[in-house]
Amino acid sequence: MHQSCVLWFRQDLRLSDNPALRAARADFARIVPLFIWSPQEEGRWPAGAASRWWLHHSLMSLAQALRQRGARLILRTGPALDALRSVLRETGATAVYFSHRYEPEAIRVEREVATQLSAEGAIVKAFHSSLVFDPEAITTRAGRPFQVFTPFWRRCMTLPEPAAPLHAPKRIPGPKIWPRSARIHDLNLLPRTDWTAGFCKAWKPGEKNALLRLKTFCRGNLARYETQRDMPALDTTSRLSPHLHFGEVSPRQVWHAAATADSKAASAFLRQLAWREFAHHLLIHFPRTPLEPLHAKYAKFRWRKNKLALKAWQRGQTGYPLVDAGLRQLWRTGWMHNRVRMVVASFLVKDLLLPWQEGARWFWDTLVDADLANNTLGWQWSAGCGADAAPFFRILNPVLQSERFDPRGTYIRQWIPELRRLSAAHIHAPWQAPAEVLHAAGVRLGTNYPRPIVDHSAARDQALAAFRQLPRG
Ligand code: FAD
Repeated sequence: MHQSCVLWFRQDLRLSDNPALRAARADFARIVPLFIWSPQEEGRWPAGAASRWWLHHSLMSLAQALRQRGARLILRTGPALDALRSVLRETGATAVYFSHRYEPEAIRVEREVATQLSAEGAIVKAFHSSLVFDPEAITTRAGRPFQVFTPFWRRCMTLPEPAAPLHAPKRIPGPKIWPRSARIHDLNLLPRTDWTAGFCKAWKPGEKNALLRLKTFCRGNLARYETQRDMPALDTTSRLSPHLHFGEVSPRQVWHAAATADSKAASAFLRQLAWREFAHHLLIHFPRTPLEPLHAKYAKFRWRKNKLALKAWQRGQTGYPLVDAGLRQLWRTGWMHNRVRMVVASFLVKDLLLPWQEGARWFWDTLVDADLANNTLGWQWSAGCGADAAPFFRILNPVLQSERFDPRGTYIRQWIPELRRLSAAHIHAPWQAPAEVLHAAGVRLGTNYPRPIVDHSAARDQALAAFRQLPRG
């Protein structure tokens, strides 16, 4: 058996169902767990502020789990290749095992690492564990990437059932002498101003909490998921997205837990998990899409520039309660319900005619689950320019969406206290409420809650006119 192996943790911050860890344990007597903080190697997408908050806590949790098994988490700063070379040299390890990532820059880094370190004599092995299916193995009959979700999903369903998840090892033997490590606080991941107080109430990062959340979801809300997943006030979705992004739980664990708990109820949920697979498939095959529309004709769309409108949207001050509630939930908790993400995205792109890339950037900085593949898919879908997207001319009406998915206004009241005393009849469009109703509810439009910054039906006409100017086909 070879001596030591560096286990390079990336977006797989867990010990259970981690094939790289399993293989390292099988092939080597000693393991050196390593995480490299290297934002300069993420291209235009270094982790945003909310993601960094999550990462800080996730690393703390991983370090603790390793300590309980007799090991340590070594922290270094990038470039990754330099950090790996140093740790190999300092520990005498002869191999590096890691899990693949799928973002274009991360792929570039891991290819460079594999080429260079192999040439220098190290054993380098990479494993797929962040997706259920190997995204490159899935193609159309003609061998091309899929651009429509349903056939992609059908193709996945013809593949063998994902293997059962792996257990975490009880012990992880470390090197005889541990190399030096930075402290987690030295990475400066936490924001200077404490904007994240609400995050601490809403979330518990780390593998243990991810598995607990999965278990609780499978025992409870999974049964109601299909019928209630679109209602933000009911909070029936799993909220596993940040845990999945950081790999604190594997999609295979999620898949098996859901399918075992309730195979009938699981199908709607697994279909949603498959959108994550599809998003990564698209990002791998179309790596330019975080910044450019998948369908080239949309590059010619004449977006507006309007800093004030963008700021009003970011702050949840558009005057449309459901839109504002979503953006305030995002600011306070680092997360937003999926239905509301669709509504706020449509509002930015189609009511304000602001570029979808502005919205994607804001989400990138403020979401704890910011994920390049999922965020790109979500924004291109909303802007009508991506794979399987909602056509541009289908414009969500923020008032009708509100009446339909938050009929009692419970979600709005939770995030917009100024409107708390308005009844369900008036809360979706306060500017239409009689003056005495507003007065009785303490709502002073233009003072403690804004008037709508655009008129939806006029904005809709303008969006459709702008859309008609695009080249056909
Ligand atoms: P559940 O409904 O419980 O779904 C389970 C898991 O499936 C999720 O955790 C997620 O990993 C995956 N999933 C569900 N819906 C989607 C979807 N539409 N696309 C891709 N994966 C999905 N999701 C992110 O993880 N990161 C993002 O940065 C992100 N940005 C988005 C931006 C926009 C404009 C839109 C419309 C959607 C975005 N989504 C993103 C997708 C989706 O909103 C979130 O994954 C979901 O709200 C997370 O909540 P949940 O874990 O309770 O989801």
